[in-house]
Amino acid sequence: MRYSEMFLPTTKEIPSDAEIVSHQLMLRAGMIRKLAGGIYTYLPLGYRVIKKVENIVREEMNRAGAQELFMPAVQPAELWMESGRWNMYGKELLRVKDRHNRDYCIGPTHEEVITALVRDEIQTYRQLPMNLYQIQTKFRDEIRPRFGVMRSREFGMKDAYSFDADEAGAEKSYRKMFDAYIRIFRRCGLHFRPVEADSGNIGGSFSHEFMVTAESGEDAMVHCTSCDYAANLEKAEVSRPEGKADQAVDFSPIEEVHTPDIRTIEEVCAFLDVKPGDIVKTMIFVGDGKPVAVLVRGDEDVNETKLRNYLGCDSLELAMDDTILEVTGSPRGFAGPIGIKSVIIADYSLIGMGNFVVGANRENYHIKNCNIGRDFEIRNYADLRIVKEGDLCPRCGKELKIARGIEVGHVFKLGMKYSKSMNATFLDSDGKEKYMIMGCYGIGIGRTAAACIEQSRDGDGIIWPMPIAPFQVIITPVNINDENLARVAEELYKGFVEEGVEVILDDRNERAGVKFKDADLIGIPIRITVGAKSLAEGKVEVRSRKSGEVEKVSLETVRDFITKTIMEQLSIS
Ligand SMILES: [Zn+2]
Repeated sequence: MRYSEMFLPTTKEIPSDAEIVSHQLMLRAGMIRKLAGGIYTYLPLGYRVIKKVENIVREEMNRAGAQELFMPAVQPAELWMESGRWNMYGKELLRVKDRHNRDYCIGPTHEEVITALVRDEIQTYRQLPMNLYQIQTKFRDEIRPRFGVMRSREFGMKDAYSFDADEAGAEKSYRKMFDAYIRIFRRCGLHFRPVEADSGNIGGSFSHEFMVTAESGEDAMVHCTSCDYAANLEKAEVSRPEGKADQAVDFSPIEEVHTPDIRTIEEVCAFLDVKPGDIVKTMIFVGDGKPVAVLVRGDEDVNETKLRNYLGCDSLELAMDDTILEVTGSPRGFAGPIGIKSVIIADYSLIGMGNFVVGANRENYHIKNCNIGRDFEIRNYADLRIVKEGDLCPRCGKELKIARGIEVGHVFKLGMKYSKSMNATFLDSDGKEKYMIMGCYGIGIGRTAAACIEQSRDGDGIIWPMPIAPFQVIITPVNINDENLARVAEELYKGFVEEGVEVILDDRNERAGVKFKDADLIGIPIRITVGAKSLAEGKVEVRSRKSGEVEKVSLETVRDFITKTIMEQLSIS
């Protein structure tokens, strides 16, 4: 490609509406342009990166035995009614009507379409397992699209769906995809971590998110400082502390204190001169219509996902004022465990606590020196809180740390959720009709490219890893009007093209400084500078975008030197 002919509109200005660096750089490097909120066009440079990511994904999916197909973006409402998601999905589902007034949606995902297809075509266990994938455009009507292609409404995604005859097969399919994802993100040159994610009522560690580590990441991930345990914040567990739940403490006499209009933890701390760790919060939740009181130490917060899983309920919400009044006998802000009319469960953080402060279930009153066993009973202790840095690892007991990340992929065991609701059955070897066991596996294509930029960049622009760089090499003659320089650059360019190197020749009539700036901005891994001084010695300068190191290489050896460097950087480390 010749730069002078390429549609590559770079800009110096930082776009004012781009909050994160990857969005800014993708705009500045001429990779994307916005059409409407959360809807983007990929320009030629950006699309080259997308194709690179797609090809790596495709190669690894094929290697893992998955087969590529292509499903429609427009999906009939009937399928979504079968699965029950037409009503459940909410406003993110973009619904449209055709000329006959029939309902359709623009697919945000394809479980319904693939399940209907496989249900109709697969009859016996002999046709299983089956893993089908596509790389396709999705639409989710995000309420607040932002961060460019990182959180857009229209986006490219690889989605795979596995169908198995039994649990053991489903686990094998899951593991295959997990391993394929490790290879994919490694090949993309990313630093990432697979983290355990919540799998709802399926149980076990059957959901992992692949998180690219980046300080700008939207998601928090918890990881152990000693073993390889890692989970997202929603799923992250803590170990049960040692010691018995009701160990003996010296009970101080219970005391009711007048705390006029003191409701929050901060207010209670200031008023009673105690620390948040001396307080026990009583949170009233309603799970599937039944109230439950959840106790957690004042400096901790309840993790609603863990609580929902613990209770095994479908719906869970914080109680409204009337329920609080009914259960505690007092308005919001003074709930406590003593005399409460609901089941009480407690987070592990209460283990070992004594003489703590609680609400009095009476307006404007709190209780000091409350104690478990003497003053109230707890039904059960469980891990119910949001993990914080310094909490202890559920596997090895060492400290946990929290880092930021960007989710680029997700592997998920669906079980029989869709095969049951959509009646996808097969005839097993024992002659019985059974439901297929499914898994689904997604990768955000544009998001992977954007995450790479978040992770790999500097003040001058993007630093593409070789495997997904839009071009591998840029040739920069410092002065295109110097015939000798132009000729050498042209010869080099033709030689690389012949050899299959992805090369762009900056043949623009611009100052060298402008060309260098653009080369750095668009992040090409290797720049070959053709200048008069080096050329007098029969050499060109080869510069690494990543390290900034410059090496003078003779014209005779530069082709071998470059192809070797590229090969090295393409292989999986
Ligand atoms: Zn650990």
